[in-house]
Amino acid sequence: MKPNFQNNNLKIAIQKNGRLTADTLLFLKKAGLEIDTDGQKLYAKCWNYPLDIIFVRDDDIPDFVQNKSVDLGIVGENVLYEKNACVESKMKFNFGLCSLVVAVPRDSQIFNEADFQDKTIATSYPLTVAKYFKEKNIKVTIVKVTGSVELSPALGLSAGIADLSSTGSTLAISDLRTIAKIYDSQAVLISRQDGNIKKIELIKKLIFRFQSVLTAQKYKYVMMNAPKNKLKQIIQIAPGLKSPTISSLAKQDWVSIQTVIEEDVFWEKVSKIKDAGASGIIVLPIEKIIA
Ligand code: ATP
Ligand code: ZN
Repeated sequence: MKPNFQNNNLKIAIQKNGRLTADTLLFLKKAGLEIDTDGQKLYAKCWNYPLDIIFVRDDDIPDFVQNKSVDLGIVGENVLYEKNACVESKMKFNFGLCSLVVAVPRDSQIFNEADFQDKTIATSYPLTVAKYFKEKNIKVTIVKVTGSVELSPALGLSAGIADLSSTGSTLAISDLRTIAKIYDSQAVLISRQDGNIKKIELIKKLIFRFQSVLTAQKYKYVMMNAPKNKLKQIIQIAPGLKSPTISSLAKQDWVSIQTVIEEDVFWEKVSKIKDAGASGIIVLPIEKIIA
């Protein structure tokens, strides 16, 4: 069946089948976008936003955005750096986190980038890696490999590799040791400067929704009971977005406190609050925060 794209709808390209796909679809869902996906499709419609979703290989996403085939894309920064497409990165999603690292076999005599002088390095990111070594004035020969890069040294193809790594486990399994990091990467939303006012408005509204999901992910909603005389101390630890909500309890001289706590300091703050005398602490995830 011929795809029935509406001209006024936004089109967003996302990875069809890979490491970013599940997190991307989950994020769109958290932003309240209802998308009918059965995993087999090349495109899907959003039922409650003028948005069509196009499923493609991640490498094609920057070009699709640049040449106006789509308005938006969700792709790893690593692909952007390699492609050099004329697109802008609008926001970071905090998923698809990984780094492009340089690694060598555990028993290699290479210990730093300079040791790569006149050696070969295998990678799926030849332009980025060439630029990296050129800037350091180190002459390397780059071998482009599109998959299973970790096997290259064992196959005698190269002295080392430059590849994406998140936990480092794939490198460890292949008996490789990291000697340098070229960059960190995560999934980003990309678009181009477009003259179409209607579309710019739709993109703005979409980014507003996405930002509210991201902000919400940074916090937890916390409710607790505490003796009234500990209130000041607890508010100092967890001041909330503007200020906590305080209500009286039936028990004399006790209050109920509702506040939010940042995820990255959550345990530290909750234990301080508990030590300060709070009890019955209830923690809830937050769906969205409209700042
Ligand atoms: P495609 O078939 O779409 O071309 P691919 O094989 O190039 O897929 P994937 O392995 O699915 O790509 O990775 C997609 C993206 O996921 C990467 O470009 C990167 O941004 C991100 N990513 C996160 N962690 C890792 C990791 N450990 N290794 C590789 N990519 C990672
Ligand atoms: Zn790819």
